[in-house]
Amino acid sequence: MTAELDLVVTTTEDLLRSHPPARTPRRDFLAAQFDAGLAWVHFPVGSGGLGVAPPLQREVTLRLADAGAPDGAEFNRLGYSMGAPTLAAWGTRAQQERYLRPLFVGDERWCQLFSEPGAGSDLAGLSTRAVRDGDAWVVNGQKVWSSLATISQVGMLIARTDPEQPKHRGLTYFLVDMDAPGVEVRPLRQLTGEAEFNEVYLTDVRVPDSARVGEVSDGWRVAMTTLMEERVLFNRERTERTPADLALELYRTRPDPGPELRTRMIDLWVRARVQRLNSRRAAANRTAGIPGPEGSIGKLVYAELNQDALELCLDLLGDESMLYDSYEMSAYTEESLTRRAEQDVRRLFLRSRAYSIEGGTSEIMRNILAERVLGLPPEPRTDKNVPFSRIPRG
Ligand SMILES: Cc1cc2nc3c(=O)[nH]c(=O)nc-3n(C[C@H](O)[C@H](O)[C@H](O)COP(=O)(O)OP(=O)(O)OC[C@H]3O[C@@H](n4cnc5c(N)ncnc54)[C@H](O)[C@@H]3O)c2cc1C
Repeated sequence: MTAELDLVVTTTEDLLRSHPPARTPRRDFLAAQFDAGLAWVHFPVGSGGLGVAPPLQREVTLRLADAGAPDGAEFNRLGYSMGAPTLAAWGTRAQQERYLRPLFVGDERWCQLFSEPGAGSDLAGLSTRAVRDGDAWVVNGQKVWSSLATISQVGMLIARTDPEQPKHRGLTYFLVDMDAPGVEVRPLRQLTGEAEFNEVYLTDVRVPDSARVGEVSDGWRVAMTTLMEERVLFNRERTERTPADLALELYRTRPDPGPELRTRMIDLWVRARVQRLNSRRAAANRTAGIPGPEGSIGKLVYAELNQDALELCLDLLGDESMLYDSYEMSAYTEESLTRRAEQDVRRLFLRSRAYSIEGGTSEIMRNILAERVLGLPPEPRTDKNVPFSRIPRG
């Protein structure tokens, strides 16, 4: 580990020397970071990594943030944190070469085409179809709640390729070109007014077989990697201010918050410290490439803690909390991503309602923890071994 740490630190210092962040264009810096193996240090050499232990990425992230370097993950959160690990685990060498660098340097943003109107928590019940046609697949169906789809170039898609198999077994994972003919993205307005997520209609979309990730009918296992990584993403230790930090800043500006708000502030601060230590421990323990079901602990705690913190922020703001910008529908653009970083607590409060839904609801996180971490009896599942085509659907 010491030799690996030395390698990571030296390589990071070399990068900062050869490409000073203040004088290097963003894309050039990220390209140099990828080529140096500092995009995901645990990936193989040549794929943006150095083949060292995953926790060492933290050393890179903190050093680069301190030096004011651009953040490749921030621009392409879903691609960086979910798509890339999925490709590292399941993609072919050719796919890793085709996708990883453009993803990291910001040439291609990724979105996730999993949920459907009839399949959210029960994701394996999805009905988007992919039918083989020569060296391509023809995809038809509808996805929904697809975040960032308006500004993405690549979509992570799961579709049903064999309806005669039980629902978890007839699925296949693809990467879809979001500009391909037949892909139609329709924005949906959220509570904040922004159309961060979208409906995506797929009509006779041709996806080359070379964009299939993993084996045919093995897409559920591939999708699990994406979902596990998504849950870890929620729980990662952040370099920006957390909702608990924002609550404390606001608390300090109030002349006399009173005993009730003081008690809530202290309680929240203790929970936030525990959460930070837990996420640091989870990252340090992560020696294997793919995280396990215990990632659900962090996702659950993240959702509840941050919702409570933002509720406290609004109570500390008092009447001012009602002065929200505008609920008018606004398109989601590059500028929206910058606005997100501004951390207006009123906007964050509205957005935080989604924390306990996106990436798997808190009820589903509790189910996973009960069954797969605590070993409690599973929920009854009557359709588990029935061919999908014979499962009654509305
Ligand atoms: C802001 C936001 C962004 C999103 N981005 C994406 C994205 O980019 N790509 C994507 O594919 N999806 C995305 N989603 C969708 C998200 O993954 C789903 O909303 C989520 O999985 C829940 O599915 P559902 O909405 O169909 O609700 P349902 O599954 O219909 O659940 C409805 C309610 O029933 C409860 N419930 C369901 N089953 C059980 C059970 N077995 N036990 C106990 N309770 C249960 C749920 O907890 C929930 O309260 C996003 C959602 C949000 C809010």
